[in-house]
Amino acid sequence: MRKLCSVQQVVDISPIEKADKIEQIQVLGWTLVAKKGEFQKGDLCVYFEIDSLLPDLPMFQFIKRSEKPSALRLRTVKLRGVISQGLAMPTDILNEFDVDTANLHVGQDLTEVIGVKKYEPPQRGQQSRKLLPFPYYVRKTDEIRIQSQPQLIEEFVGKDCYIAIKLDGCSATYSLKDGEFHVCSRNYALGEPLNPNISAENDYYSQIAEKYTLEEKLKSQGNFAIQGEICGPRVQKNRLELSELSFFVFNVWDIDKQEYLAFDDFIEFCKRIDLPTVPILESHFHFDETVTAESLLKMAEGKYANTKNEREGIVVRPRQETQSEILGGRLSCKAISNKFLLKGGD
Ligand code: ATP
Ligand code: MN
Repeated sequence: MRKLCSVQQVVDISPIEKADKIEQIQVLGWTLVAKKGEFQKGDLCVYFEIDSLLPDLPMFQFIKRSEKPSALRLRTVKLRGVISQGLAMPTDILNEFDVDTANLHVGQDLTEVIGVKKYEPPQRGQQSRKLLPFPYYVRKTDEIRIQSQPQLIEEFVGKDCYIAIKLDGCSATYSLKDGEFHVCSRNYALGEPLNPNISAENDYYSQIAEKYTLEEKLKSQGNFAIQGEICGPRVQKNRLELSELSFFVFNVWDIDKQEYLAFDDFIEFCKRIDLPTVPILESHFHFDETVTAESLLKMAEGKYANTKNEREGIVVRPRQETQSEILGGRLSCKAISNKFLLKGGD
């Protein structure tokens, strides 16, 4: 679960040119606009990340620009020429919630007590198959945003990394263990069709399995799961402008060893069974101490190949799998393009 709302520190404050009522503040790796003088450097605040859907309470009404339920969603905006991501409020607001305000600590998760939900864009299409538990021997796909975990940079420094382009389709996992093949969406293994008249072959997870003969290909390799993004017509906004449904692998998981293949092995694996991978922007990116969240965000910007569409961003990982202490899992993160966010990408 994403920590959408937490106690954080205002780490920096700077003026905005020609603005006398607002100023720019920094919280974690995010910059946002606040009322001038509301915070001093070092103050604690209640910070809400972008994609927070705030509860419909009097104290949050000021952010509403309409009466739609989505009006309580925090999105990326530009004010007086500066990007503002998220919302910081004084810790006083916590008096109205069940929080021990005498004992606040930086990082304290407030998402649930305040009742913040994650905004989810409306989903097209309907569920056509029974949802079963995700295979316990595979990990679900996810990536943390660099601004939410700025100290992650330190774990990356000195590592030889690669940078993949983040595709905005839909996450799929195909696994094969001891002869048993599973087709999975981001969170579930897919079972029987719900309506026997509608064939399961109609859903795009199965279409991909068919198109790339994934069951046979995995059977030729042993116990592995491949994870990737399905893109194409009718998937999200098809920003890649593909004419047919396609699959781009970003993870190969060795089920027996319970580990991801390192970059070279992952590329080699996909070549061997003739599967496309996500586009690789840089296969040797030396992550030195000059790299910052800001420079990664700059690299995140660009168009999807042969289109005029802003790409969603990038995913950065060490070429050798590395355990992250901060994340308690593999070291990997995403930088989402602010150009993409400002253009309404969700
Ligand atoms: P958030 O956590 O920011 O609320 P989210 O959990 O919906 O958002 P995404 O922003 O979609 O996640 O980012 C993670 C997803 O990105 C992965 O689950 C995966 O499906 C997708 N993805 C697309 N391209 C890549 C790539 N090149 N490498 C890794 N993951 C990728
Ligand atoms: Mn996530």
